[in-house]
Amino acid sequence: MALYSEKKALKNLKDRIMLLSRGITLPDISIPVRHLQSSQGGPGPMGTVCYIGDAPGRRNSQISLTIFPKDHYMAQYALPTEWWGEGEENKENEQENKKKVLLTGDNIFIEKVPSKWQGTFSNGRKVSSISKTRFHPYRTFSLALYRTCRHFERNEQCKFCTISSLSNKLNFPIRSTNQENLEYLKIAMANNPIRSVTMSGGTFDSPEKTAREMLSLAKLIRKETKFLVHIQTEPFFDKDLMKELSEYVGTIGIFLESFDEKVRRQICPGKTRFNSPENYLKCWEMAVSCFGRGNVWNTNIIGFDDDYDVIVKGIEKAAKVGVITSILLLRVGSKELSGVTPSYIGKEDEVLKLHQELGKILVKYSVDNTSPKKAGCLGCYGCSATKEVVKWARSALGKGRYENDYPPFFASA
Ligand code: SF4
Repeated sequence: MALYSEKKALKNLKDRIMLLSRGITLPDISIPVRHLQSSQGGPGPMGTVCYIGDAPGRRNSQISLTIFPKDHYMAQYALPTEWWGEGEENKENEQENKKKVLLTGDNIFIEKVPSKWQGTFSNGRKVSSISKTRFHPYRTFSLALYRTCRHFERNEQCKFCTISSLSNKLNFPIRSTNQENLEYLKIAMANNPIRSVTMSGGTFDSPEKTAREMLSLAKLIRKETKFLVHIQTEPFFDKDLMKELSEYVGTIGIFLESFDEKVRRQICPGKTRFNSPENYLKCWEMAVSCFGRGNVWNTNIIGFDDDYDVIVKGIEKAAKVGVITSILLLRVGSKELSGVTPSYIGKEDEVLKLHQELGKILVKYSVDNTSPKKAGCLGCYGCSATKEVVKWARSALGKGRYENDYPPFFASA
């Protein structure tokens, strides 16, 4: 059982914030990359799933990492890397490690987590390699139920959103049937170990209708695979529906997106028009009464000249009612944000302080269970520093040092 000292927890937290805020570029001799995250953005997922470690082979977490092509405007801020094993000191491991382990200037070791994605659907169509984005860290398999959103219809979509890019650019169906989604999952299971399923996507006509559709797919997944399921919706207030959902779904995400209302109005015009922060609080309370404390998730995206004091107050208000908030560092890529540089760049100390406040609050209100046994994103946190900040806060507050609760396949540390 690995125990974390406060010093180690702080180093891991700082490394993670650096990687999440900057992303990386590959060494010059590498094949140029152009993956979905660098071209499409999105607040959380769609990066390359990697292990992070503090020595070769000593991995302590997984991350959804942005790898920028050298000609991307964000590449100037990214952490340059080299292939570990090419230096003189690693001569004896050269063959084994060459092109496998990346190393940043701050001695962060990065390795790609392998995933296999091959197979043929019953209709004869081959699984597309672009769907690799369905594999998120910690063996979380993601399904986007609806690849557009009611807010696009009014041109009031969230500015960071890229949900429709796959259907627009690559002709993916806007809504796959439940059977097709199940088939995707079964093909993934045949080639990879899966821990849990996250179900996200846009809102159909109403959040209630979306939640009902998610419920029907969750029932099918539970019947056929027994995987725990996590869903993400906009607020709704039908308690019977929430109760029924909680029988088939382990955790739920209802995202305010920003506690800084000035920012929220600017980046989420549609969601802001439909629901006030008070509505979110009401919905969170109802969700906690069905799913339990620590099983309801909120996110706060930063990168828009946000007011961190306001965000900390909001995080505390949510935690009091049993909601866990993650801070997501904006990943640019949508058309609306093309050319935008997130305001957190160069402010790593402030971002670290914000995270430390978050960690202390999550521990104080006992919404700090980030075990991989939890459904979907709440057992993953691969696109944020939530797990790392909880580890740090537990050590700093003397609430028991963090136990490395991952089965061996998640981390070798
Ligand atoms: S927390 Fe959720 S969205 Fe983020 S990487 Fe994990 S599964 Fe994906």
